[in-house]
Amino acid sequence: MAWIKASCSTCGDVELGIGEVKLMMCASTSEASYVFQCPTCELIVSKAAEENVVDVLVASGVRLSVWHLPAELDEQHYGSPIGYDELLEFHFQLRDDAWVEELAAMASAKEPFRRDLEPAGPYDQP
Ligand SMILES: [Zn+2]
Repeated sequence: MAWIKASCSTCGDVELGIGEVKLMMCASTSEASYVFQCPTCELIVSKAAEENVVDVLVASGVRLSVWHLPAELDEQHYGSPIGYDELLEFHFQLRDDAWVEELAAMASAKEPFRRDLEPAGPYDQP
């Protein structure tokens, strides 16, 4: 069985089995990271992984999980973000049994959002 040498910020160098390291890569940004639980202090350690680290870990047998940024990040958003007042109003609307019908009416409306607001760009990605 192959062992992987990693570094815990508390304990220093530690050795891990292949199954003890989780490697993740965002397909949208090509950024990768790996995470493991330190076998000595049991802290969860997470670190960014450069391309060469990803290559070494994959070549050692660590399974690579690929994920994508949520599609919602590409959506156009209108108006300003909701505030506490809107959230509180929504909370009280949910207390009324008519909220399902109101929501269905809003969803079937031809223009579900205000046209007088300029569309905001997609949210900045980190
Ligand atoms: Zn440790």
